[in-house]
Amino acid sequence: MKRILCAILALAILLTVSSCKLYTPKQYAQGEADAKLIVHFIDVGQGDSILLESDDEFVLIDAGERGSGDTVSSYINERGADELKYVIATHPHTDHMGGLRTVLGDIAAENFITAETDCATNTWIKLLKTVEEKKINYIDAEPGDTYTFGSASFTILAPNSDKYDGYNNYSVVTKVTCGDISFMLTGDAEKESEYEMVSSGADLHADVLKCGHHGSSTSTTAKFLKAVAPSYAVISCGKDNDYGHPHKETMQKLNTLGTTILRTDQMGTIVAYTDGKGLSFSATNNNLPSEVSNTENKSSSALAAEYIGNKNSRVFHLPDCSGVKNMNEKNKVTFDSREEAVEAGYHPCSSCNP
Ligand SMILES: [Zn+2]
Ligand SMILES: [Zn+2]
Repeated sequence: MKRILCAILALAILLTVSSCKLYTPKQYAQGEADAKLIVHFIDVGQGDSILLESDDEFVLIDAGERGSGDTVSSYINERGADELKYVIATHPHTDHMGGLRTVLGDIAAENFITAETDCATNTWIKLLKTVEEKKINYIDAEPGDTYTFGSASFTILAPNSDKYDGYNNYSVVTKVTCGDISFMLTGDAEKESEYEMVSSGADLHADVLKCGHHGSSTSTTAKFLKAVAPSYAVISCGKDNDYGHPHKETMQKLNTLGTTILRTDQMGTIVAYTDGKGLSFSATNNNLPSEVSNTENKSSSALAAEYIGNKNSRVFHLPDCSGVKNMNEKNKVTFDSREEAVEAGYHPCSSCNP
């Protein structure tokens, strides 16, 4: 009987842990130095603008309002890009596509991706005209299509229908992948599009989610959030914006899941770096939450690793071994596999037997 109870208890613990604890990618300490993919969430106030960078190839998703065009343009210049391989206009709302015409006037672009709508506003028509005049290759966003840049790629996941009420759900949603690390960038996609993505059967898991529609309650549904299960959520919105973004419902859902929230209205431009295995962040206002800025020295990041070694004793352990709890943070080193630890000259701990 005791044994059965133990088994039930163990199972219960396992289930609780696996359903509540998010897998947090290990800290990628080098920052920019050897990053294979850098994702810049450019602070454009109330709007979106995301620059992807991999091995000197660049992708721009949105460029904020018209007035942000110059900001985005000079940001791209500072990164040393003389060409954008892909430019994505997620949907025809000015807080996303308003600044794109300025950018396309300043920087050469190879391909332009968007989803077909009946939008005929001045700003949108002028943007499409610029794309045509500059002979930029026009691509109609098709779910399932994958495009590569440098050593990264992005797959289009939405829109999955031809007709929606309002333009937000026409948002071109992309999942950007580099090695084991991925980012879900959703534009202003709302509930309808999120549900379609979930039922499409596509692999929606991502380490970082750029929350739809600036953290509005119309997006980031529980169903979608569960499928993405992000460790980090980025919300792109303006300080004291008129819409009350991000909405408290969204914040609550993210907090319940244990997702670390990063906001451009509080942190300015947020930059994520990955080597394809780990993740790290920086922000212009330098006020990242402690879970992000100190992950290097936090045991939580070590707990997410498969094996933990002690640089001093050259012994490696399972993350829950008592030998790890007492270890000085300075001496900790993490390994993805047993082989990696052995190859590095570490010996297995005799008490946890990794
Ligand atoms: Zn919108
Ligand atoms: Zn928007």
